[in-house]
Amino acid sequence: MVIFLNGAYVSEDTQISYNDRGIQFGDGVYEVVRVYHGELYTAKEHFERLVRSTKEIAIESPYSVQDYIDICNRLVKENNIDNGTVYIQVTRGDAVRNHAYPKDVKPNVLLYTNIAERPMQDMQQGIKAITTEDFRWLRCDIKSLNLLGNVMNKQKAVEAGAKEAIQIRDGIVTEGSSSNVFIVKDGKIITHPVNHYILNGITRRVIKQIADEAGIPFEEFTYDEKALKNADEVFISSTTQEVMPVVEIDGENINQGKVGPIVKQLQTKFNEQIITIQSEKA
Ligand code: PMP
Repeated sequence: MVIFLNGAYVSEDTQISYNDRGIQFGDGVYEVVRVYHGELYTAKEHFERLVRSTKEIAIESPYSVQDYIDICNRLVKENNIDNGTVYIQVTRGDAVRNHAYPKDVKPNVLLYTNIAERPMQDMQQGIKAITTEDFRWLRCDIKSLNLLGNVMNKQKAVEAGAKEAIQIRDGIVTEGSSSNVFIVKDGKIITHPVNHYILNGITRRVIKQIADEAGIPFEEFTYDEKALKNADEVFISSTTQEVMPVVEIDGENINQGKVGPIVKQLQTKFNEQIITIQSEKA
């Protein structure tokens, strides 16, 4: 596999310095872009978010949105990725360990690909989730490399035999450990507003657009754990999980443990977009 590191296309055993600020402090940001049938999906949106994340932590991205897209396309081609992902990490660079931002440091930029099939079975059957305290930092809008809170909460879910941890801060449902969370009540989709408590998910934006086009009300309000558990339907979204139904939370069924009609409608529309990518390529 070929990876991209700081301007060069190199082999995957290439090394980075122990002084990298990403290693020393988690001082960097990242993105994940989905590849369907060899084509990048919503890449522009992902790289605009990456550039925003770098700005928020005062890293000057050495590449533009279009540069990142070009690098991804070359990696996808060279690594022969049909369905997969591209991970992009930008750290502040190499410097002797000292908390404050070092002067004259050059960011490290790493891109690599993975093969990843769509989670078809889970999307058809739905997944189990748990609720857990959201004890992460207060800049969840930045896609930081520092994922310790998310990692700890995901581990709790896995240990409980579930696939996602739905996080709750001060009684309010924020987001999943690696996803946005939505409820459906009386035909309306409700999700946490975009602010510093959540990541502004790219899939969330696609879902909003699909809902708008389909005439399904999409409301951005906070809601609590009771509303979550009393919802008609619950689902999560992410670049790799797409529109993923949640049919059980903390051992309690949602919609009698079945995937509900609004989720199915969103999944159908989401699929149509992917099929369009496939047919445009053919
Ligand atoms: N929130 C968190 C904490 C995430 O890790 C992710 C997945 N990257 C999301 C939301 C969903 O974002 P996206 O749809 O852009 O993948």
